[in-house]
Amino acid sequence: MVYSVNIGNFQVSHVHEQTREFDLATRFFSGLTLEMVNFAQQILEPGSLTTDNRLILSMHSFAVRTGRFNVLIDTCCGDHKDRRFRPDFHQRTTGYLGVLAKAGLRPEDIDYVMCTHLHWDHVGWNTQLVNGSWVPTFPNAKYIISRMEYEHWRQVAESGVVNNNTLAFEDSVSPVVRADKALLVENDYELDSGIWLQPCPGHTPGNYVINLQSDGRKALISGDVIHHKLQLLYPEILCNVDDDKEQGSRSRLQLLHQCIDTNAMLLPAHFPGCPFGTIKKENGGGFRFVPIS
Ligand SMILES: [Zn+2]
Repeated sequence: MVYSVNIGNFQVSHVHEQTREFDLATRFFSGLTLEMVNFAQQILEPGSLTTDNRLILSMHSFAVRTGRFNVLIDTCCGDHKDRRFRPDFHQRTTGYLGVLAKAGLRPEDIDYVMCTHLHWDHVGWNTQLVNGSWVPTFPNAKYIISRMEYEHWRQVAESGVVNNNTLAFEDSVSPVVRADKALLVENDYELDSGIWLQPCPGHTPGNYVINLQSDGRKALISGDVIHHKLQLLYPEILCNVDDDKEQGSRSRLQLLHQCIDTNAMLLPAHFPGCPFGTIKKENGGGFRFVPIS
């Protein structure tokens, strides 16, 4: 099943790659106690956490048809990628392009690819392996990449560090730049009327979120500013995979309030199940994600 939603005249489809068990919740977040996880086990929907308290994360893209362009946002993990630092994601194959086809889109139909940031699980399908080389998967697309984010990861990769993100930089970002398919942009770049970037640093230095606005309706595509519903239940916890945890926390709260204040739908990168919802403030200080019915 492909979930989709209309934001005014824009149609947004959920392109699901895989849903997998991930790290222990208490390892992924600072300030999260076992008691808090036990309580969350009772509150959150089934499929949010494993019985042994690991996060369950979906990897998916959003395909936006604006009427003028087809835009694909965040390209998941990809096939055949060397991700040796996460064995569950190493050298895998997925049916991703088949799911994109079910959403009615072929690779050549994509006009723009946007990457909210350049972590390995957001750039994978930027490229695919053809005759032993990594080539852009979407032959007619320009790839919208934050200049600040690109420069950050270029420097990390050149420093000799080897991790999944630098491996991804080499196999999923650099080939796009070499093929002259990348547009390196500032973090407030406007692609077209009703679709523009907004800086949202913390998870990574050049992290951006994407605003959609059409016919009075609004949505925010939030990437990894929010990974899991635990962060809504307990807004005070910090995310250990944020480059700057304190800034990540400020950005997360600001974005949640922005959703409420502007009546914008939130489209997070890793929520399992329906990824389209609204944000409600709870009495105890937390928030709740209410999926569209
Ligand atoms: Zn991610």
